[in-house]
Amino acid sequence: MTVHVQPSVSAEACPALVLNADYRPLSYFPLSIWCWQDAIKAVFLDRVNIVSEYDRMVRSPSFEMRLPSVVSLKTYVQPSRNPAFTRFNVFLRDRFTCQYCGAREDLTFDHVIPRSKGGLTTWENVVAACSPCNLRKSDQLPRDAEMWPRQTPYAPDLHDLHRAGRHFPPNFLHESWLDYLYWDTELEP
Ligand SMILES: [Zn+2]
Repeated sequence: MTVHVQPSVSAEACPALVLNADYRPLSYFPLSIWCWQDAIKAVFLDRVNIVSEYDRMVRSPSFEMRLPSVVSLKTYVQPSRNPAFTRFNVFLRDRFTCQYCGAREDLTFDHVIPRSKGGLTTWENVVAACSPCNLRKSDQLPRDAEMWPRQTPYAPDLHDLHRAGRHFPPNFLHESWLDYLYWDTELEP
């Protein structure tokens, strides 16, 4: 299938927000987003409904359509109850802040109990740390390095990540997405 996009605008700048069949995002962390090619493919496979569209058109010899900006699955997918243990979600829990010095740049990960001393790669033992702190702590225990995380690392629930996520919205938010995201923001004091 050859598809031509209006050359004046970049289709790459037109991702689609993917909603579950209940019109909530399929996933928040990371936000469920498809590139325009995947969104259109899903439309043609009849797997999604188009909820909202961009102004931008795509054309092929056989069809012409606007790029979807929001799609919803036709079949409900049971969302996982616990947030995935991912690099992004660890950063999000820790507010993209080094847990030793508070720096917000040059972030990496630190095993509080070093792996060399039996520390596991789990929510309870991994924190965001800047490279200089990571280097300084090296493979020492917190008491040997005299470096303790500002907050005891924990496994967040979705609510925790939602609260954190409001401070770090995705880089790209089309206006048509806002009806489906952060609808409860105003309820925050
Ligand atoms: Zn640091």
